[in-house]
Amino acid sequence: MTCIAIANQKGGVGKTTSAINLATAMAATGMTVLLLDLDPQGNASTGLGITQAQRKRSSYDVLLGGATIDEAVVQSCVPRLEVVPATVDLSGAEIELIEYEARTHRLDRAFNQAVRRWDIVLIDCPPSLGLLTINAMVAADSLLVPLQCEFFALEGLSQLLSTVERIRNRFNPGLSILGVALTMFDRRNRLTEQVSTDVRAVLGRVVFETVIPRNVRLSEAPSHGLPALIYDHRCAGSEAYIALAREMIARLPKAAQAA
Ligand code: ATP
Ligand code: MG
Repeated sequence: MTCIAIANQKGGVGKTTSAINLATAMAATGMTVLLLDLDPQGNASTGLGITQAQRKRSSYDVLLGGATIDEAVVQSCVPRLEVVPATVDLSGAEIELIEYEARTHRLDRAFNQAVRRWDIVLIDCPPSLGLLTINAMVAADSLLVPLQCEFFALEGLSQLLSTVERIRNRFNPGLSILGVALTMFDRRNRLTEQVSTDVRAVLGRVVFETVIPRNVRLSEAPSHGLPALIYDHRCAGSEAYIALAREMIARLPKAAQAA
């Protein structure tokens, strides 16, 4: 089981859109996939058609010990893709967790205790570097960092990377950066072209070849409770996420690729 946290403390950079569509693309290759929604906004759950009634058990319960991961899992609208949904309760979890022992390891422990095994677990993180994201980084094998092609793209990245370094030193030495994915690329806008060139110059090969274009189908799909890959599997956004999933799988350890 390979666990990938999708993290960037900047808001609105495409974490959730990437989580939903990469999970769908990976499930389509035959892998069993779990998407754990760790954002109180619950957008990943909503975007996969999980109703409020289906969120009786959630990532909040998993973190606070009220449910196991196996108990909290619900089937999504996509075959082989299951979800641990999020509810607004989760917004209080960062404060509540302060009282708990091993507060940084709650999620890691929950995964160690899970009976079920998935080939890939994706965690959709909230836009902060607080305890929720730290729990994800402690539990994960690697990180996917979506970076929006805009002027301030690299701003905040050093803070993210120093958090990763601290997590490595203290809790999870094996945590790696699987890659950085450029999102919301607009070919008609010279600035995004420039940003993409600059980001590649600074970060090098950690940046995936595949670039996610700005594509209205990607933003429409969640209102239908569907991944873009099902809503319109031929749109440019869907094709890009299929290519990105392929690139990500190729970067996984050999054993995980064979799954
Ligand atoms: P948050 O930090 O709030 O969790 P996020 O990083 O998860 O945000 P998303 O929710 O995926 O970001 O995207 C932010 C907004 O941009 C959403 O309305 C989404 O539909 C839209 N969006 C994301 N990616 C694209 C894209 N490639 N093309 C067009 N719209 C996009
Ligand atoms: Mg999000």
